[in-house]
Amino acid sequence: MEFKNAYLKKVYEKVEARNPGEKEFLQAVKEVLESLEPVVEKDKSYETNGIIDRIVEPERLIQFRVSWVDDNGNVQVNRGFRCQFNSAIGPYKGGLRLHPTVCASVIKFLGFEQIFKNSLTGLPIGGGKGGSDFDPKGKSDGEVMRFCQSFMTELSKHIGADTDVPAGDIGTGAREIGYMFGQYKRLRNEFTGVLTGKGLSYGGSLARTEATGYGCCYFTDEMLKCMKNESFKGKTVVISGSGNVAIYATEKATQLGGKVVALSDSNGYIYDANGINLDVVKQIKEVERGRIKEYCNRVEGAEYHEGCSGIWNIPCDIALPCATQNELNGSAADTLIKNGVIAVAEGANMPCTPDAAEKFVEAGVLFGPAKAANAGGVATSALEMSQNSERLSWTFEEVDAKLKDIMVNIFHNSYNASKEYGHEGNLIFGANIAGFLKVADAMKWQGVAY
Ligand code: NDP
Repeated sequence: MEFKNAYLKKVYEKVEARNPGEKEFLQAVKEVLESLEPVVEKDKSYETNGIIDRIVEPERLIQFRVSWVDDNGNVQVNRGFRCQFNSAIGPYKGGLRLHPTVCASVIKFLGFEQIFKNSLTGLPIGGGKGGSDFDPKGKSDGEVMRFCQSFMTELSKHIGADTDVPAGDIGTGAREIGYMFGQYKRLRNEFTGVLTGKGLSYGGSLARTEATGYGCCYFTDEMLKCMKNESFKGKTVVISGSGNVAIYATEKATQLGGKVVALSDSNGYIYDANGINLDVVKQIKEVERGRIKEYCNRVEGAEYHEGCSGIWNIPCDIALPCATQNELNGSAADTLIKNGVIAVAEGANMPCTPDAAEKFVEAGVLFGPAKAANAGGVATSALEMSQNSERLSWTFEEVDAKLKDIMVNIFHNSYNASKEYGHEGNLIFGANIAGFLKVADAMKWQGVAY
């Protein structure tokens, strides 16, 4: 799609010129700006206040060296990042990704998306993201600890409970958050809610581990109910990935009456026609940190297939991509549509390529974009921040009930915005617009200092 609005066209061309080769970042910016055409057409003050020019430029992008010593006594050097994208509505908030593919483009795309996602939760949190090209896979606990401590030694200068509160993401789970929190406390001599996703014994929130996967299913259930008078009951579900988001999406989809038949990792996927036995998956992935193919050695009748993209050939009613960006392309979308999929919701960030998303929308498949469908994780992180500030812990049921309310509201706010701006039912438009309006309003009130 080409921009019809001259202001948006000009801004996007400048973003392209300023960020050459940053394909993930450009993809994310383009998708959001396309959705904002009816908004900037209707209200010229976004242009006169330079809101779009400003919202596409991070307030701050920090890049730093992370050196650490491996188990053989060799010095290793990784690159660390923190992108503090937008603080108009609250302290920067967003996860830390540890994966070899991490670079400025990936961190900026994630930070940019986070602005709108965090706004959609209705909670006071700005947008940020960070990480490193360090790969925790195959590293010993000692190596992971030394890396995390070195990473936090620099990051601690830039974050704080009222400034910037990082969390987990790919490769950053409870173990990594624990090592980082310990190092922050050691360096600053203060016990504050500077990170979320913490262990329950030192300020973590119940239901945070489950939140992104559960939230994605609450969103999907509401979308099915309101747009198709349907639910998870009796539906066949395919979920990609087998990390934090995929595991808890599987748990909630099953509780809501669906049958999850497939999961994957970056090597391949498993198919279990009887429905995935999640206890086995949790043992392999959460306890043993093993590979998903191991499932077939433990569950009779299950199949393993090499290559992760084949998972989308499995016929299903509901598909939840929960692994990584651009994992579901146009031809996978064609196959899913041909096989009769009725709903797709993004548990991962930007897992569907733009042409895949467009195909789903055109075919009338219900489509929940990431910034709406996976906002449950960051929403619950914000609830963890509230509990830390109060120095209280809420029950699992209390947090889960709040999470459900938030996801239901995100669906309705996105749906209503899609209707108000002339694209009824297109939740890509709806989520981008609903997320944008609050941030833009706050930016207008706060003036043009940065
Ligand atoms: P994890 O590291 O726990 O799990 C990621 C999973 O995806 C692993 O099973 C990994 O397999 C798999 N994977 C990676 N690349 C591919 C691929 N190309 N095809 C299939 N599987 C693949 O991460 P999370 O579950 O936390 O995050 C998953 C996604 O959800 C990310 O996009 C993240 O940004 C997003 N997200 C996460 C939130 C959270 O609360 N955790 C919140 C909001 C969004 P392998 O072991 O082989 O690498």
